[in-house]
Amino acid sequence: MKEKDIKILWGRSGNRCAICQVELTPDGDKETLGEMAHIVAKSDDGPRGATDLPNDERDRYRNLILLCPTHHREIDKNFQDWPVSRLKKVKGDHEHWVSEQLGNGKITVRELDNSNFFEERQRIYLELSRNHITVVASLTPLRVSEGQIDTTEPVVQSLLEEATIPGNDIEQKVNRYHTRPSEFGIVNEIFRELPKRTGHSYHIFESGHCEYFNELGSDTDRITQYVLSKGDDVKGASLVVRYTDIAEAIDRGIAWLCSLWANLLPFEYLEYRCQILNCKNSTLYSYEGDWKEGVIGYPTRSESLIYSEVLSRDTDFEHFSFDVLRWLAKCYGLVLHSRFDQHGKYRRPVTMR
Ligand SMILES: [Zn+2]
Repeated sequence: MKEKDIKILWGRSGNRCAICQVELTPDGDKETLGEMAHIVAKSDDGPRGATDLPNDERDRYRNLILLCPTHHREIDKNFQDWPVSRLKKVKGDHEHWVSEQLGNGKITVRELDNSNFFEERQRIYLELSRNHITVVASLTPLRVSEGQIDTTEPVVQSLLEEATIPGNDIEQKVNRYHTRPSEFGIVNEIFRELPKRTGHSYHIFESGHCEYFNELGSDTDRITQYVLSKGDDVKGASLVVRYTDIAEAIDRGIAWLCSLWANLLPFEYLEYRCQILNCKNSTLYSYEGDWKEGVIGYPTRSESLIYSEVLSRDTDFEHFSFDVLRWLAKCYGLVLHSRFDQHGKYRRPVTMR
């Protein structure tokens, strides 16, 4: 789901169930959890799903209705009693009611807005990355508020130490000696090998925001030199990033963030963000082992690339991971048809023609 649709839905619904008007929250507070229900189901065989509404319209604001868990169950279980027309009428009447109540000051609406928080994190990422190409990925509650997680609990530390650091053939776990409290929660980071231009940070916040940060500096230097010395056509790019390095960083990041969500985070919805920092004039290069020929993408002109999507607990993460890798390939003018080949290795993207 797109952040924009979610903000419109929560805002216009006044954080209230469209059927019983109970106040809802998007996070793990003591209040009732809001659920963004599909009017037409996401899949054709779900409740009210047998229509010709295109798949990419099904997660949009127009097809969503904000409900409490009880009423979400009710409309999906007894879907014959709750056809599309009835739900649209209920939603329309509810939104009309909300705007009247807002107008005469009877209810207030808490905004779902994390923009200040993200701006501050962005400033920190840019400082840490020191102009090197870097992957940053995070999961964030729809509304950031402190005190959602007790990061002194041992389970938090062990989840942090299950994270792996991409870029090595041997699976390297984060080193527990570098785990310490931070002002926001708990962090594992190594930035001491500055001359080698590698570093990482894995961070769990008390607010429920979790992030990982991986510099790809040294690998990228090596690959850039190699490709330029072969005389391959890099179409004017000054930096060459190996597809598998960046795909692995993204993939492992998703796996780690999802394990945190499953084991620790009490939220029904979280915003996933993936950013490639300092990537201006970089291109993507894919040539591994027995692959017959390398693929080189087009240089990107952006300083950073950003992918953002709001996920729910029932997201299929295998598919989602593939979506993010496909996005990555596309940013460099490449197309990815599947995530892995028959040997379980990252499949290289192909050039758009
Ligand atoms: Zn309700």
